[in-house]
Amino acid sequence: LPFSRHASAIAGPQPQHGVQQLSQSYNKQQLEEARDQFLMSVSHELRSPLTEIRGYINLVLEHGDQLDEATRSTFLQSASYGCDELELIIRNVLDMSQVEKEGKPIYIQELPLAATIAEICEHIYLQEHTLELSISPGLVVLADRQQLRQILRNLISNACKYSPAHTEVVICASLRKDNTVCVCVKDEGAGIEAADMPHLFQKFSRLKRDAASSVHGTGLGLYICKQFVEGMGGRIWVESEGIAGQGSRFCFTLRQPDVDR
Ligand code: ADP
Repeated sequence: LPFSRHASAIAGPQPQHGVQQLSQSYNKQQLEEARDQFLMSVSHELRSPLTEIRGYINLVLEHGDQLDEATRSTFLQSASYGCDELELIIRNVLDMSQVEKEGKPIYIQELPLAATIAEICEHIYLQEHTLELSISPGLVVLADRQQLRQILRNLISNACKYSPAHTEVVICASLRKDNTVCVCVKDEGAGIEAADMPHLFQKFSRLKRDAASSVHGTGLGLYICKQFVEGMGGRIWVESEGIAGQGSRFCFTLRQPDVDR
């Protein structure tokens, strides 16, 4: 299998619905090993943005008076980017725990899609990619704003991590024939083979090519996206030809208010 999975590597396929089933089908030693592997992996993931943040802050602290304004600002922006990465990892871990233990509270409201996505993206700083929005005007969706934000942050972060620098990430959204709204995040990266697609949304799944590379990841982002999208009554999937450079499109649906009335 072209996958690397931290917890399930110990005892076969991952159960579909979280911790309770996990404790029923795994013995105590396997659970402890899975927990240790998970903690090691998350600590490792946290260390990398932390090192980056410390590096840039130290540069400014130690050489600030020799740096021109633009360079100092770039360094601080890079440190801030590291903080975003840290926050996303921590958020995903907390969300995983909450989704599985008690179910995450959800606050569904009517949101104007173009304005909401634009506002979310305004606070996402991309280091080496450009982000383009192409959202049909006038769309209104039923969604939890925080969860929509987390879904987009995960998908945009992946689009950047798994595609070459200086390529474009595009977010588009349009109405489908079944009256749901489809939001897609498209990149120009390595793409994904059809056989691998269903596995990516399982907890801790990473493509082996990425697990073996220097690209960091916990394998939690797409799992969280799936939980949130389905909690809001939608569906999530990926489209790709599996051809390097032609990239992937991660798409999810959201309901519209009118359809429910
Ligand atoms: P993480 O990125 O932290 O490893 P995710 O759950 O977000 O975890 O993604 C799971 C895996 O799916 C990634 O490790 C990577 O192998 C693959 N993947 C996700 N997004 C993309 C993408 N845009 N292009 C190619 N592969 C991707």
